[in-house]
Amino acid sequence: MSADRKLYEGKAKILYSTEDSEILLTHFKDDATAFNAQKRGSIAGKGEINCAISAHLFRMLEAKGIPTHFIDTPAPNQMRVCRVGILPLEVVVRNIAAGSLCKQTGIALGTIINPPLVEFYYKNDDLGDPLLTRGRLQLMQLATPEQVKQLEFGIDQHQNLILADEISPDTCRLWDNAETDPDARVMDKDRFRRDLGSVESAYQQVLQRVLAQKV
Ligand code: ADP
Ligand code: MG
Repeated sequence: MSADRKLYEGKAKILYSTEDSEILLTHFKDDATAFNAQKRGSIAGKGEINCAISAHLFRMLEAKGIPTHFIDTPAPNQMRVCRVGILPLEVVVRNIAAGSLCKQTGIALGTIINPPLVEFYYKNDDLGDPLLTRGRLQLMQLATPEQVKQLEFGIDQHQNLILADEISPDTCRLWDNAETDPDARVMDKDRFRRDLGSVESAYQQVLQRVLAQKV
């Protein structure tokens, strides 16, 4: 892999170029950050777990006709992906109230949101990833109204919007349906954020449950 060159090191992944200019190699790290990287740590095995969870979910989405950047996993913590131009937007889908939504609106933690709320945040660490309105999104020309409708994240070499990055307990809030205790049910990065312990085993458990779903 002589052509591999480090392009970018983020908080959770490193991106390398490959011999093919349209293909990138993503290396999933055990590093964990929270609160805009003010809190830093490491979750043993997270790189491999998040890579495996993301790979399985991308395969499931592809099988449902949703294009993603996923190609394959040459190693347990590595994913080959199609290079895209990432839109500087974080698209958050909320089915249950938690996190900043509760803080900013006073809506109680755990409130079911039906139909789900789809929100856009400006992916900009310096500004603290602020919430965007559709008007601001258009004003800043971050995406066209057509792209906003499609809910996806990166533009490939053919100008198609495709889903990119990762889908994992780092980027989703996941609660165990069988648990009612507000701390015990948490199966995602909130265990790390809130020092709830058993972070690795929660991530492992998510992997097992995801793998139990057929592609
Ligand atoms: P960050 O700390 O910025 O969240 P990560 O550690 O998650 O970064 O590293 C992944 C970086 O790679 C992110 O900036 C993400 O937007 C970008 N990325 C993910 N998938 C692709 C892709 N297919 N093509 C180009 N960039 C990508
Ligand atoms: Mg990231």
